[in-house]
Amino acid sequence: MKALILVDLQNDFLPTGALPVPRGDEVIVVANRVMPRFPLIVATQDWHPANHGSFAANHPGRKPGELAELGGLPQVMWPVHCVAHTNGAEFAPGLDTRHLAEVVPKGTDPAMDSYSGFFDNGHRKATGLGDYLRAHSVTDVYMLGLATDYCVKATALDARQLGFATHLVLDGCRGVELAPGDIDRAVAEMRAAGVRVLGSDEVPAAN
Ligand SMILES: [Zn+2]
Repeated sequence: MKALILVDLQNDFLPTGALPVPRGDEVIVVANRVMPRFPLIVATQDWHPANHGSFAANHPGRKPGELAELGGLPQVMWPVHCVAHTNGAEFAPGLDTRHLAEVVPKGTDPAMDSYSGFFDNGHRKATGLGDYLRAHSVTDVYMLGLATDYCVKATALDARQLGFATHLVLDGCRGVELAPGDIDRAVAEMRAAGVRVLGSDEVPAAN
């Protein structure tokens, strides 16, 4: 059984959003195109409280892009984004959400960030996504979304660690690229962990 994981296809990560991923809007059409090829589709949503510790605005003197600490881990300071129940946290307009079997919120704890759809960054709490996929006899996960060098990478690495055969739909991803080369390094790291990288045209039809 295969499943598709759509990572953080939310307004604030589009080029017009609060934490814009360059050309992030281009992946929506890819998501819509491959969805019919999957019997099970889940989506993650970055879903922060307003007092979230990843927001530079919640740390006096900090600016977005700086490196600080949160929950004992290095933490990039981000602009305020994806605050729960705000427009910025909603799915991107144009995304066909009709076939989503499950939506997995993450980053809900103000004291810990969660790039991965499976665990927080400290691997202290699970979101339930891993159990959900196993309960549906999923063996293979395909994923695409935003951003390649943060939440997509973390989700893919955790999927591998949990034992899923993991496939990255590369043209369905865009990255932040805070430092030049971040996207290429993220893809290399995923490959090294056993993630198979493919194009959307190579995603097999539903079986
Ligand atoms: Zn976030």
